[in-house]
Amino acid sequence: MMVGGGLALFGASTLLTGCGGDTTTTAAANTQGPSANTTTASAHTISPVPPTPATNTTSSGPMDPRTPLYVALRMDDISVGELEQEQADIINWFSVNKVAFNFHVITYSEDGPWPTDCKTDPSSSQFCTSPIVQKLQEVYDAGEILGTSDDAWLSLGCHAHDHDSWPGYILGENTDGDWQRNDLAISMGFLNKAYPNADIRSFAAPANAANNQTVHACLEQGLDIVTTQATVNCNAAEVPGTAPGYNYGFGPCSNAHAGGTPPYAWDCIPPDDTYFTTEGMQKANGVYSLPCSSANSNFQTVEIGLSVDETIGVGTCGCTNNVCPMIANAKEMADKSNGQIGRAHV
Ligand SMILES: [Zn+2]
Repeated sequence: MMVGGGLALFGASTLLTGCGGDTTTTAAANTQGPSANTTTASAHTISPVPPTPATNTTSSGPMDPRTPLYVALRMDDISVGELEQEQADIINWFSVNKVAFNFHVITYSEDGPWPTDCKTDPSSSQFCTSPIVQKLQEVYDAGEILGTSDDAWLSLGCHAHDHDSWPGYILGENTDGDWQRNDLAISMGFLNKAYPNADIRSFAAPANAANNQTVHACLEQGLDIVTTQATVNCNAAEVPGTAPGYNYGFGPCSNAHAGGTPPYAWDCIPPDDTYFTTEGMQKANGVYSLPCSSANSNFQTVEIGLSVDETIGVGTCGCTNNVCPMIANAKEMADKSNGQIGRAHV
């Protein structure tokens, strides 16, 4: 089973997310089951958040030298069968505090799929009594999920059906499109039935395993936000690099998971490796690519959690040994968005 756990952050100057995947080489196989977290973007992050003026403008006080950091949070592996109360507690925190949050649901479990009819028939599934199922229904009914009201702030996304098998179907740039399309259709079938008014636009690829076929499968289901992994290693940030791989240690929609073979492709890099411009966000391969760049866990072994200090990473230079701190990666990714947008992964 999968374990829910990570947070992903995204924002006008930073994107934080927990992901799975080796950050040091595109050739690394990632056969981890659960990806505790990944980066995702909510619909409202498509438009860049205007930079907030530095909190320094009092006439009497000194200028605050700090740079505002905006993050988007992403959490994957929302699912039934394990840690259901913890998942509910996390959603509840974002609900109560009205903090924008991106979370992605796995619709499969060993004991049955994500329930779809609890509202009309509470006996339709054993999981209708699950704390996470009830919490999602509560925030959905309260109009807190994007699509259900004008001032919603919680973004419900898709994290596949057969989550654990997903990385095995990303063996090259254009492999296994049929399998991916089928799996996404099943997953979205459950989500659309359970939450018909939700504006579900984001797909977080399990273990960040995605290729060109993933993009097409997403678009078929109306998912125009694809979130995988984009990490820059410690010594790579000063050199932007060139197409196709630029300076990524692990690039968005790389086909390298599960033993992919060269030549590698990065199918979710926007034109000129620039995510945001003065015109707004650039699409990559037809979708909005909002990968994670930092995480609150080790990227390769997501079960290894990081402390708050490690996650924020004051004074660090970027990804080292699969640990990608937030601030350093925010700066690195800001370089890919005209200085406005960066990403980190918490
Ligand atoms: Zn996952």
